[in-house]
Amino acid sequence: EQHDGCLERYLRTGEKHIIGIGRVVTGQKKDGSTFPVELAIGEARIGEHRLFAGFIRDLTERQQIEQRVHELQEELVHASRLASLGEITSMVAHEVNQPLSASGTYLEVARELLASEREDSRSGGLKAIEQAAAQIRRVGDTVRRIREFARKKTPDLALEDVNRIIEEANAIASVGSKAKHIRTIFDLSPSRPQTKVDRIQIQQVIMNLVRNAIDAMTDYDKRELVLQSRVNEAGLIEISVLDSGPGVAEAVAKRLFTPFMTTKRDGTGLGLAICRTIVEAHGGRLWYEKSPLGGAAFKFTLPAGPGNDMKPHANV
Ligand code: ADP
Repeated sequence: EQHDGCLERYLRTGEKHIIGIGRVVTGQKKDGSTFPVELAIGEARIGEHRLFAGFIRDLTERQQIEQRVHELQEELVHASRLASLGEITSMVAHEVNQPLSASGTYLEVARELLASEREDSRSGGLKAIEQAAAQIRRVGDTVRRIREFARKKTPDLALEDVNRIIEEANAIASVGSKAKHIRTIFDLSPSRPQTKVDRIQIQQVIMNLVRNAIDAMTDYDKRELVLQSRVNEAGLIEISVLDSGPGVAEAVAKRLFTPFMTTKRDGTGLGLAICRTIVEAHGGRLWYEKSPLGGAAFKFTLPAGPGNDMKPHANV
């Protein structure tokens, strides 16, 4: 239906979105499994008639290789984040521990001195409190410095077609047997919104959300995945990944975006935390809602159009 719309618009306006360009979309086999296809539309004129022909090429093999490359890239990103998390954690522990224990000692001394009736003890007590406060300010400075250290990587920005990003990310994320029998519905904005982003990073976010949705629906009979794009009331692009799985338990929902929070045996619990960091670095917001399909809905916003002033990307 969407491609009918593309053809209809092309005939009306002459604007090319797919004709002669081609794109990667998701195909579905009779047995319900999905696979990535390259769809190319060619045009021919025969007398009065204009004919359109669609060529569909199964990309499974190529995509499997690309997916492996993607996975390896992701693993690398995870590994380097983990390494820097580890480094930062021990740095924080060291830098913060010392002034904190010093301030503890100063406060204990202050308590002793203030309990005394003697005037000079009281002024010593106040001095000790001031010293404890100075140590605590030092902790604050350290934390600020660590935050600055974490903010460094600059992303690779370009003006991108949001719907295309979604289609490609889904095609890559839904390769494999886990994604079998999932009915995927694309509900994409007909206005074809554009946004200035780092495509690979935003695709990483969508792939993560789609994989989480697929994981969540593994043991469910009803397997529906909806991928949405729209321009919301505030003029922001809103991308949603909805599933018909079990949804997120209330206790888990509070800590969804906390690093290392996972309910999976082989999970890292870093996926959503990293997704949120990426989206926020693009000036957007990422959140969880209950899905109208019964399961989870993850939504995020991105600024519309070319004028996205990017903040530097944090490392953690
Ligand atoms: P991981 O996938 O490694 O566990 P994430 O940060 O991506 O790490 O996800 C954290 C947790 O959030 C998951 O372990 C799971 O419990 C929950 N979760 C994420 N997405 C969904 C979803 N679509 N449906 C239900 N639970 C989810």
